[in-house]
Amino acid sequence: MKVADLTGLPDGVPEHFQSQGIEELYPPQAEAVEAGITDGESIVASIPTASGKTFIAELAMLSSVARGGKALYIVPLRALASEKKEEFEEFEQYGVSIGVSTGNYDSDGDWLATKDIIVATSEKVDSLVRNGAKWVDDLSCVVADEVHLVNDAHRGPTLEVTLAKLRRVNPNLQTVALSATVGNADEMADWLDATLVDSSWRPIDLRKGVLYGQALHFDDGTQQELARGKQKETAALVEDTLGDEGSSLVFVNSRRNAEAAAKRLADVTKNHLTDEERSKLREVADEIRDVSDTETSDDLANAVEKGSAFHHAGLASEHRSIVEDVFRDRLVKVISATPTLAAGVNTPSRRVIVRDWRRYDGDVGGMQPLDVLEIHQMFGRAGRPGLDPYGEAVLIAKSHEELQELFDQYVWADPEAVHSKLAAEPALRTHILATVASGFAGTEDELLDFLERTLYATQTDETGRLETVTQRVLDYLERNGFLERDDRLRATGLGHRVSQLYLDPMSAAEIIDGLRAAEDDPTALGLYHLVSRTPDMYQLYLRSGDRERYTEIAYEREPEFLGHMPSEFEDHAFEDWLSALKTARLLEDWASELDEDRITERYAIGPGDIRGKVDTAEWLLNAAERLASELQRSDEESLPSATTTAVREARKRVQYGVEEELLDLAGVRNVGRKRARRLYAAGIESRADLREADKSVVLGALRGRRKTTETILENVGRKDPSLDDVEADAEAKATATKTANEAAGNGGQQSLGDFE
Ligand code: ADP
Repeated sequence: MKVADLTGLPDGVPEHFQSQGIEELYPPQAEAVEAGITDGESIVASIPTASGKTFIAELAMLSSVARGGKALYIVPLRALASEKKEEFEEFEQYGVSIGVSTGNYDSDGDWLATKDIIVATSEKVDSLVRNGAKWVDDLSCVVADEVHLVNDAHRGPTLEVTLAKLRRVNPNLQTVALSATVGNADEMADWLDATLVDSSWRPIDLRKGVLYGQALHFDDGTQQELARGKQKETAALVEDTLGDEGSSLVFVNSRRNAEAAAKRLADVTKNHLTDEERSKLREVADEIRDVSDTETSDDLANAVEKGSAFHHAGLASEHRSIVEDVFRDRLVKVISATPTLAAGVNTPSRRVIVRDWRRYDGDVGGMQPLDVLEIHQMFGRAGRPGLDPYGEAVLIAKSHEELQELFDQYVWADPEAVHSKLAAEPALRTHILATVASGFAGTEDELLDFLERTLYATQTDETGRLETVTQRVLDYLERNGFLERDDRLRATGLGHRVSQLYLDPMSAAEIIDGLRAAEDDPTALGLYHLVSRTPDMYQLYLRSGDRERYTEIAYEREPEFLGHMPSEFEDHAFEDWLSALKTARLLEDWASELDEDRITERYAIGPGDIRGKVDTAEWLLNAAERLASELQRSDEESLPSATTTAVREARKRVQYGVEEELLDLAGVRNVGRKRARRLYAAGIESRADLREADKSVVLGALRGRRKTTETILENVGRKDPSLDDVEADAEAKATATKTANEAAGNGGQQSLGDFE
């Protein structure tokens, strides 16, 4: 089937595809068209990675928009939202408008009403539905990318419930679910009343194999000798690919391993660069160092300079996209990555090397083999159509037995079936409250009827399980004042708030109890600890020595904690309390202006992790503030208003990463925590000061950076921001430099104390 034969798309779109080199539809794409994808039919497409799923989604969305409808594309990761938006923006020239919804969970996103195609994560869509976004009623097409993630215990239930809700609101909704090849795509199609397109076709041949010793064994029975001498397996494989002008992706099981592998493999790639590549890579390395001045940033830049890189979820997003771009431009020859890269980002390469097929599993307390599904998704990244003659995916065996095992377990094996994780209590707690609060169910019967539309209900044979858990959850929600139950189900004011704030009801209950227990002015640490012990915060792990360290801090600062501290003999509860304390201390360090670099060192985490914790804390403290006002409105034993003020201040300090005295300055765009401190040290203590101060002092305090200074003066609303004829004040500059060095040297406040 030819692109030119497609009908029902906006004018100009088929020609656009042709100009992109898409003339002929891939077989699974043609199957989707035959099944009516451009006529509004629902489809589940279970096809291998890189086989043109996005094109199928585009056909569905664009034809729906051409008929006057509105489409929603649900992405699995926030990091993918902007990538997809950019991809779809190519269609704006044909009159199709695109919007992406990220950011806060508690807005209704009304501005999206005018967009034809909206991109968002399932959490975001769920929250928009809870907040009553009206445009949701106008949707005619929804695409769920990576729908096999319904199998994921943490994120699956939200995707599942969101799809069920959207389909309930719009009974004629075209549902397009894109999935990796899974064992039971037919069940998903049943659930979504969709036609199944199930194919193993790939646009480029994939050879799968296992390396053992010097021999690379392929699934077609052939073997290749790899003269590797003393070289490690991975290095030899990368070198071998380079000999053929090809790039490699190496999958490992932890961030630390990804960084270490990138460093080692740089020694291989550095010998395969041209002078031109070397000089371009030096520029890229500078760009990387400019993003942030952390050790991770330096390590990445050092590796990239030699043609090697690492990629994991702890990287800053700017770093991630730089790495992806230079890899696609073939400047960087190898990326060592954790499996997050396999899940979405489009970085195909000639050879995929799965070095680690086991990963540490905290629930089990040991190494566990990865799912076939995950390994096959990594495999799927091998081979760039049009660029490589074929793709190759390789596992590494340590023994002869393992060679056979890996063939049986992964190369020949079929991917697992996916199973709904909805019946777990934490998932149901959240979703049942939201379902009632946003009016999807007004009685217990209606609630069960709604839950019947989920994948869980389609899959389970266990009669009564859903009813039992539902009853337990309803009891919990009633006991905590989120729901009222008689012959009808009603969310209370508090329940509505909790649902809109996108909180796990258990987090809300913890926060409410903590705020009620606060006697007068809670401290920032007390509040950080409170939000860190809710199930919505991923706490830091305790490492060796941490138990003693944080136990000591716990006793020292006991009066600051809100609510009851478990005794040391309640082993599990006490450990959790300490993990929350460690997390709270990280937030306190951040809000006390400790250098990013020092924080990553002290807690052995990446800069991206600080950002993650800070964002979550900001969100939870914002929620705490709203809950506090809700309690003030509805409660007889009302909270003192000082509590709300303290919460607000703690939130702002964590948001900007500064002490209280810098809050005013740090909020000015482009100022940030470090510059605010330097300005303050030069005697500029507020926005008003910044508007009035001698410009040469401002320039000095900002270490002579003219462009930055002008921008900042403009942002603070100074009448005449121009720096013509202004010279930096030498004293202010010296003070600023000293402040910067102090921050880097002794880690800010002495009183924080150092661990090492
Ligand atoms: P998936 O989402 O399945 O991982 P993509 O949709 O990203 O895969 O497609 C992979 C690549 O294949 C993209 O670069 C895309 O432009 C290209 N592509 C898709 N369909 C066709 C086609 N029919 N002909 C040629 N190239 C195609």
